[in-house]
Formats: sequence, C-alpha cells, structure tokens
Amino acid sequence: MRVGILGCGNMGSAMALRLAETGEPAACWDSFYAARQRMADAGMEVPESAAALAEASDVLILSLPHAAAVQTAMAEVAGALKPGAAVLDTSTSEPAVSQVLAARGAEAGWTFLDAPVSGGPAGARGGTMTMLLGGDEATAGRLAPLLDRLAAKRVHVGGPGAGHAAKIANNMLCAANLALVAEALRLGEAAGVPAEKLLEGVNAGSGRSAVSEVNFPRWILSGAYDSGFTMGLMRKDVRLAEALGEASATPLPAFEGVARVWADSAARLPDDADFNEIARPGKGPGGETKP
Ligand code: NAD
Repeated sequence: MRVGILGCGNMGSAMALRLAETGEPAACWDSFYAARQRMADAGMEVPESAAALAEASDVLILSLPHAAAVQTAMAEVAGALKPGAAVLDTSTSEPAVSQVLAARGAEAGWTFLDAPVSGGPAGARGGTMTMLLGGDEATAGRLAPLLDRLAAKRVHVGGPGAGHAAKIANNMLCAANLALVAEALRLGEAAGVPAEKLLEGVNAGSGRSAVSEVNFPRWILSGAYDSGFTMGLMRKDVRLAEALGEASATPLPAFEGVARVWADSAARLPDDADFNEIARPGKGPGGETKP
C-alpha cells in the first residue's frame, strides 16, 4: 500500500517520520518549498507535485492548516486520485467540507474519511495520537493496520463530518480548560496558594483535565511553551466551534466568554506563539489589565 502525505508541517512531518520508522515510508508534498526540502533531507520521497503524489498513493493523508487549504489541495489532486484510493484528512477541518468531499469521492470512486487527531507533534512522532473518524466504516477497517501505526486510540464517531464535529467539540473544551485553569491558579495565588500546590490539589480532585494534568506541568509551569500547536490554530478551532454553534442554532452561552478570551489574545499573542501562552501570567485572561 503506497501512502502519501500532503502537508508536511509540524504534524505531517512527524507522521511521515513515524511511518518511515515503522516500515511504511510515505512520499510527501507540501506547498512550502522549505518543508519539501526538510522532508527530502530526512530521506523521504518528494514527487514533483501534489497531483503526482496523489496519483501514486493508495492512501493520501492530509495534514493541512484549515478547511480552506483542504478544499484548495483537494481541487488540485482529486482528478489524479486512483479509483479505490482513500483520502484520510487528519487536519482540523469543517464537517460540511468533509461531507461535500465524501460525496464527491463516492461519485468519483475514491473514499474521503475525516480523521482529525490530537496528541500534538510528539504524539504523531510516537504513534500515540487519538484519532476521531468520520465516514465509511469499511474503508476505516481496511486501513486499520496503517491507522494502528499512527494512533494509539481511535473512535469512529459516525458518518462523513462526524470526526470533525467531535474534534471541534474536543478543542472547544481544551480551549476552555486552558483559560479556566489559568484563572483558577490566579485565584489560588491571590489566596496565598502557590500555583504548583494548587495544581497538585486540582489534579487530585474533580477539577482535573488533560489540560491540568499535562499542559500545565509540561508546557506552562515549566516555562517551556514548546508544544508544537500554535495560537493561530487554536484561535481557528475556537472560531470553528462558534461557527458550528451558529450554523446549527445551538446556544453556547458559557463558551462565549471563553471564545472572547481567545479572540482578544490576538492583541498580545501572535499566531505563531505556542497555544499554551494563553495561560502565561500577564498574557491570558485578564492579562491585559495585570501584566
Ligand atoms: P502547520 O502549519 O505546521 O502545517 C501545515 C502545512 O500545510 C504547512 O507546512 C503548509 O505549508 C502546508 N500547506 C498549506 N496549504 C497547503 C496546500 N494547499 N498544499 C500542500 N501543503 C499545504 O500545522 P500543523 O501544526 O502541522 O497542523 C496541521 C493540522 O493538524 C491543522 O489542521 C491543525 O489544527 C491540526 N492539529 C495540529 C496539532 C498540533 O499540535 N500541531 C494537533 C492536533 C491537530
């Protein structure tokens, strides 16, 4: 089975290295020359175009920044896909876009699965990601040996777009937890409890989450801020949650405040900053008033 990866940024390049290491080398393409060069330097096959990559692939993995890039890339490669090929979109994209692409694939003889992931570049590199699948179950079953190399956990959430809907809901909770745990630590510190101690208490109690158990010790209290997931991408995910709520007329009153915190952070934190910076003292919620 020939695998191609379209989009070799933080996640795509880590998946390519993971597949090469586990005996399933993938060919790679990225619209950014330096990214292609990096993949060639790492020993990956880099064909002459995105269409050439698609033409040679039985499975084409997408790892692109947003739904608009997925649409652009698919417009470029759809005509080159082999009959029976599968497209696995690991980007955090939009359910409606995945539904259109799945329908187009069904007409043209290829299959489109939405397969967004979490776990960051480290999870992609180590094959420990979680993948949320939407689309044809038989194709997902056929790809199981490949998916096993990429993700330690998989949940098939439903039909086309279901994976992306679930991923947006997941990241909505992650965004909320980052903002809220930062506020909880600030509240504790104001009452004289050091952040590390407060976090230890929360993680022994019912307020804990992946954010309090992983992000705060690893990237925030350590001062590392090097998770490989950017502010720009998380602000995109927050906007996707708001848009999904609007499109389905689902009120999200609690999330509105969280979304405002992320939107306002653009004044202090550029798109390429680490997303954990939202919780850096002086940068996150209330940061503008208390530097
Ligand atoms: P990234 O910006 O590092 O990489 C995206 C790559 O896509 C870039 O190299 C860019 O040049 C390339 N690209 C853009 N348009 C293209 C096109 N039309 N054709 C070919 N290449 C194109 O982003 P990333 O951090 O690797 O994230 C990729 C996706 O995975 C995003 O949707 C993100 O939300 C999601 N995601 C990221 C993480 C993380 O921790 N980084 C975790 C989970 C999910």
